[in-house]
Amino acid sequence: MVGKTRSTERADYGPGQAAARAGLSLGEWRRAVRSGLIRHADVDGTRWSAAAVERARASRASIRTGLQVLAAPEYRWGQAPAHLLTRAQLAETGPDRPVPLRPGGPIRGVVRFRRDRDRLYLYDVREAVPKREPTAAQKAAAERRRLAARTCAGCGKVAGDRSELSRTKRLCPTCVAQSWTRKFAADRQDAAAWAREVLDDPATVFLDTETTDLCGYLVEISVTDRRGRVLLDTVVDPRAEIDPGAQAVHGIGAADLVGAPVYADLAARLWEVLRGRRVVIYNAEFDTAVLRREVVRAAAELGPRPRDLVERYWLPLERSARWECAMEWYAQWYGEWDHYHRDYTWQPLGGGHRALGDCRAVRERLVEMAAALSPAGSADQGQPVLAGLDA
Ligand SMILES: [Zn+2]
Repeated sequence: MVGKTRSTERADYGPGQAAARAGLSLGEWRRAVRSGLIRHADVDGTRWSAAAVERARASRASIRTGLQVLAAPEYRWGQAPAHLLTRAQLAETGPDRPVPLRPGGPIRGVVRFRRDRDRLYLYDVREAVPKREPTAAQKAAAERRRLAARTCAGCGKVAGDRSELSRTKRLCPTCVAQSWTRKFAADRQDAAAWAREVLDDPATVFLDTETTDLCGYLVEISVTDRRGRVLLDTVVDPRAEIDPGAQAVHGIGAADLVGAPVYADLAARLWEVLRGRRVVIYNAEFDTAVLRREVVRAAAELGPRPRDLVERYWLPLERSARWECAMEWYAQWYGEWDHYHRDYTWQPLGGGHRALGDCRAVRERLVEMAAALSPAGSADQGQPVLAGLDA
């Protein structure tokens, strides 16, 4: 079926011709076809196209290896007969083998590891032949490779041993330390630049919430502008129990919430304040989740619960503002690197855990960050440090 529709791949060759053209014996060809090492798309199962033969010719070395592997018995490591050795073992000299050897016959055994992802081939030592001396050019090339392997890619200094260099980038300890120092300096400058930009942006507002518990509802919400002026600051009746642990943190209890508005009373004012703004939050994921929970609960109470509450009610609000997490930037600016997690360690805000105080604390952190910004163009601290990140 396939052959008839593919006029470009006419099946021209029978097994004898195909084997000869591919540089294999007829026996090898037949065994390779039987074991699937050579595949063909042809008319009736016994003829091959020129393209199929060409593919077999190009891979005849690996076809031969494949056939040897199929024919060889399998052994567990350490259980093979003593006369079967790996290529590396053959090359080792010893009291009974004065010269290094190489395989002189086919693969005589296979050891498989890790579910066949790794294999070792074993050769018969009695078939082995002396290993050829490498030529002068080969020796010189090998020496160059060994030298390159222990040369620092950063400063070009040659180490005594390649294990003294870092594994992935091949850097000496001095260069590794320097590249970390450069990375930390560049990251700190990036964070400082971000803080400067946020503080200069008239669209910036700071938001913070206190909640009934970690996955809970609002008990307090504050929003300030970029200069710390209050745009919204109110306790909120969560219509839910306040977890004692949460109350121990923010200190807001049921008595503080008498006469407080519920979220629905605040919603219009809140989103008026946030719409179109750049909302900077310490741990933005936490506070946006609180807002989403409130929006979804309020929407669900409007009437019969539609299935797409989040899409219909939350997403338009979420998209009406830009949300940015100050915690991640502050961690980067603070610079406590966690080698295990390969990231900067989050730092506590130190704001006192009331919404307005925390909004102002975030702003203070950003002022602190921006103050560390090197003046642009400064010779040793500004651009060159940032440029170093690319290296
Ligand atoms: Zn170096």
